Amino acid sequence: MKCPIAALILLATLLLIALAPSASAALRAGAATSNITPDMGVVLDGTIMKIGPAKHVHDELHARCLVLDDGRTRLAFAICDVTMIAPEIVAEAKELIRRSLNLPPANVLISATHTHSAPRALNVGFGPANDAYHHFLARRIADGVRRAANQLAPAKVAWGSVAKPEFVFNRRWFVKSDSQRANPFGRRGERVQFGPDRAEAEKPAGPVDPEFFVLSVQHADGRPLCLLANYGLHYIGGVPTGHVSADYFGVFAERVRAGLGAMDQEPPFVGILSNGASGDVNGVDLRAKTPTARGYERMREVAGALAEAAVAIVGRAEHRDDLPLAAQLVDLPLAVRKPDAAQLDWARAVLASPEGKAAKPARPVIYARETLGLSEFPDQVPVTLQAFRIGALTIAAAPCEVFAETGLAIKQAGPDATFLIELANGYGGYLPTTEQHALGGYETWPARSSFLETGAEPKIRAGLVDLIRAVNAGEGQERPAGGSR
Ligand SMILES: [Zn+2]
Repeated sequence: MKCPIAALILLATLLLIALAPSASAALRAGAATSNITPDMGVVLDGTIMKIGPAKHVHDELHARCLVLDDGRTRLAFAICDVTMIAPEIVAEAKELIRRSLNLPPANVLISATHTHSAPRALNVGFGPANDAYHHFLARRIADGVRRAANQLAPAKVAWGSVAKPEFVFNRRWFVKSDSQRANPFGRRGERVQFGPDRAEAEKPAGPVDPEFFVLSVQHADGRPLCLLANYGLHYIGGVPTGHVSADYFGVFAERVRAGLGAMDQEPPFVGILSNGASGDVNGVDLRAKTPTARGYERMREVAGALAEAAVAIVGRAEHRDDLPLAAQLVDLPLAVRKPDAAQLDWARAVLASPEGKAAKPARPVIYARETLGLSEFPDQVPVTLQAFRIGALTIAAAPCEVFAETGLAIKQAGPDATFLIELANGYGGYLPTTEQHALGGYETWPARSSFLETGAEPKIRAGLVDLIRAVNAGEGQERPAGGSR
């Protein structure tokens, strides 16, 4: 170059480009799936009344993984086809991810879809096959995230949502006073029941959240790369005992891949459906005589309709590549609802009675076992709360089966585009509000599936609102200096 001034201007321009703020750095994304199907014989305990070994695989289970990177911050999602996922398994997977990708636990979101035709992936003593499955699961999750990171390529994202109220129903109902039967602990007077007979039902005890949310990720040239959806529907179910299936979450992943014309794409497109706040929401319309046990057929109907809605949202969304990412995570210590001496005496008496020895245990026997199980819990447990930011989109995550009312409140408190992924980063059981605890019903009965203090919901709600605020104030956790890429 002959003119030194021109050279200086060029140098200055190059420096300015290099020092430009991260928000303008182009986004990259990668996605992968990892097969997490258990061996035959691993105990499937997703449905507490139908516990038994895996005898058949209807469709394979997967950890469906998405990694996003804005040049400064990296976020990873791993949405897994298990009923729930123990904090120990999450910790093992996150440690493997930290070691291989130098990605801190705060930037990794691991959740369960809540398919019930799968292991719960909790340490509840089903023996060596299940223990081995838990370590396998942790390794497969970490592998899925690593492989998604291997695929990182220039990308752009968009999001949108639509109301799909036709598939979601609050499953907790106020019942007529003469149908207030005794709960498994022998106490009467609970005003709310889970899925009562139609003749006994008065009105739903809570709302539903009909919003179906879609985060679309495309390659820079517009080809679909990944789609992460979110919907507050417990699961469909109705599958034969012993069947392994990803439920409608798996069908959705396939249907959306076909709907977006991404069947033969390289690298493969990944569809993901995460569970929203569905602790008290299922797909059974009590008022309309919905046929219940049409399992696989019903999964295809619901997943097909949602995939169609997702494709329409992607078609009208404007994708962008200049969105900053951020992550926040906090562990909230909460008390456990441990049984008192009288409750323990009751449980031991039930288990010592002839009823307690029956081959097919009745409900009081099951809850007597749960009571003893709960007595071995620590007095306090850490409850992991998390928030991700993708530009103006916020994703909150909690380890509980969150009720629709809480999910709606989180959406209300967050920016316009906010959704919640439940059963994430560990397991905190059902999360009824304080009012719902007073009304009673299945989700409130103390068990290893409902164990947090009755005042947990307002604390978790406030904790999530604080995190949403912090992650949007730019207080994200950045990649540690010198991190591997
Ligand atoms: Zn559940």
